[in-house]
Amino acid sequence: MAGLHVRKGDRVEVLSGKEKGKRGKVLRTAPKDRRVIIEGLNLIKRAVKPTKKNPQGGIITKEGSVHASNVMIVCQGCDEPGRVAHKVDDQGKSRRVCRQCGADIDKG
Ligand SMILES: [Zn+2]
Repeated sequence: MAGLHVRKGDRVEVLSGKEKGKRGKVLRTAPKDRRVIIEGLNLIKRAVKPTKKNPQGGIITKEGSVHASNVMIVCQGCDEPGRVAHKVDDQGKSRRVCRQCGADIDKG
């Protein structure tokens, strides 16, 4: 199965929707649904049932998912959202690099 172009920990920019132009870190990906959850973005309010820990129940705010096609990786080198190229390094590992400046996306 093809993975997403973004991974957990990536810095991304949202391209459309109410969070358009905002950036954040990917907290989670759902490759099956092609969706990603980005830290602090696309917050949704959700009613929760009472639990032992939270006997009142209530409303919690959490990050909603964004379709992966609506986000683009932000390069740490040129600080621009852009396309990513795949390169195989000396160890035979596939790495992602910025198409614009060649910076290694997977570094750091
Ligand atoms: Zn770059």
